[in-house]
Amino acid sequence: MNTGKKIVVIGSGISGLTAAYLLNKEDFDVTVLEQKETVGGSIETIKENDFLFDRGPNSGLETTSLIQQLVKDLNLQDQFVYANKEGNKRYILRDSVLHALPMSPPAFIKSKLFSAKAKLRLMREPFVGKSKDGYYQSIAEFVTRRLGKEFLDYAINPFVAGVYAGRPEELSVKSAFPKLYALEEEYGGIIIGSIRSIRKRKKREEVSKQSAKMFSFKDGMKVLPEAISKKLGNKVHTGVDVLSVKQTSEGNYGVTYKDGDQNLTLLADAVLSTIPAFKAVDLFGHFDDELVKHLNAIYYPPVLVVYLVYERSTIEQALDGFGFLIPEKEERSFLGAIWSSVIFPNRTDETKAAFTLFIGGARDAGFVDDVEQSVIDRAREEFEKVMRISGKPLHISKRLWAKAIPQYNIGYVEHENYFDHFEKDNKGIILGGNYRGGISVGDCIKNAEDVASKVKNLF
Ligand SMILES: Cc1cc2nc3c(=O)[nH]c(=O)nc-3n(C[C@H](O)[C@H](O)[C@H](O)COP(=O)(O)OP(=O)(O)OC[C@H]3O[C@@H](n4cnc5c(N)ncnc54)[C@H](O)[C@@H]3O)c2cc1C
Repeated sequence: MNTGKKIVVIGSGISGLTAAYLLNKEDFDVTVLEQKETVGGSIETIKENDFLFDRGPNSGLETTSLIQQLVKDLNLQDQFVYANKEGNKRYILRDSVLHALPMSPPAFIKSKLFSAKAKLRLMREPFVGKSKDGYYQSIAEFVTRRLGKEFLDYAINPFVAGVYAGRPEELSVKSAFPKLYALEEEYGGIIIGSIRSIRKRKKREEVSKQSAKMFSFKDGMKVLPEAISKKLGNKVHTGVDVLSVKQTSEGNYGVTYKDGDQNLTLLADAVLSTIPAFKAVDLFGHFDDELVKHLNAIYYPPVLVVYLVYERSTIEQALDGFGFLIPEKEERSFLGAIWSSVIFPNRTDETKAAFTLFIGGARDAGFVDDVEQSVIDRAREEFEKVMRISGKPLHISKRLWAKAIPQYNIGYVEHENYFDHFEKDNKGIILGGNYRGGISVGDCIKNAEDVASKVKNLF
């Protein structure tokens, strides 16, 4: 029986709230402490002039059945929405033209996104041998070796910008794309591995990211964290900044936080951290010098999110997709754009169209040194040209994430191993959050289940 075991969860992003929710269900005495006045962390939705703007994630992928369980438990069936069928079509910019990303072998053969040479190169993939040095390989090296350089430049480079706001030359294939890495390790190749692993995934009730359905909520992504928080009621404290975590002589932990003018301390049998690595270092660094090095080494590049609304009639480009991504080779000043009002309802009325642009990331982290308005103007002008928009924006809004998304760069496996080691040495402290086990909303939800199991196994 877990009743009475006190668990303090630091951070009310989707990682912290999901874990708190699961632990609360198991009768742990849970308290969530959140620095900001609102819950959700990177999940932020606002409404401006009747336009719904998701300033962090625009959607999630339903890679775990826990998402449906949450929707049901929280009575969110009326709010939950899958992306409409247009969401399956994604464009890539090549030579200033938008090309649909081919999603089937016949479409791939017909596509003008890749040259005939690149298509032939792809067919060699099953015959490419394994790398001896896979552990420390970048996704760029992995893909060039298996699929060729053109596939790296026009498929993986933009894809990586879309997921991590990252660069394939820097991201570790093992840590950032563990499933892809495992296909080579276990089956010897991507194509053969994708076919053979289907049965295994079915058994584990897992859905691959390629086939998982994209979801959001009628009132935006914030609906989920807000509903979890509501369910937890007064167990969630917002506007409280955790200042320190210290072990007591009895072996449990004192968590001190600032609430208004006063500093308060909660005693906990276990502490679950779900705050970013660069914040966790302040709270847990004093336990272990080596941990400081590992947490400090994780790079979070900045991302500027720009939200634009136009009169639909002024847009010549057919609005029949999720949006488009831009390969680095195209030398544009933004990473890509999501056609937000095309894929989910309730973002604008029918006469308008809303778009979310992403600027910066690891590809262009230096943009923050420029004047923000000129950065936005440049991206907007380029966007309007690609989309052949003749009208002026009806609405412009922005959100700068100074440290947006952790980059699982080459050598990340050493950080991952050290975090495991730290948790073994410091029983009762769990390091969770999106710098472990995946950055997507779906991964964070799935990992919260593992983290909750780790807490249970402590007692
Ligand atoms: C711009 C952007 C776009 C994205 N787009 C997508 C997308 O489309 N799809 C997708 O799947 N994923 C996307 N992601 C990634 C995904 O949103 C995040 O990885 C995920 O939401 C992180 O959740 P988390 O709970 O681990 O961390 P966070 O959301 O960062 O939550 C951590 C919380 O800890 C709090 N905190 C920090 N320090 C303290 C302290 N000392 N005391 C108390 N509280 C503290 C913070 O205020 C925060 O609320 C995007 C991320 C960003 C930034």
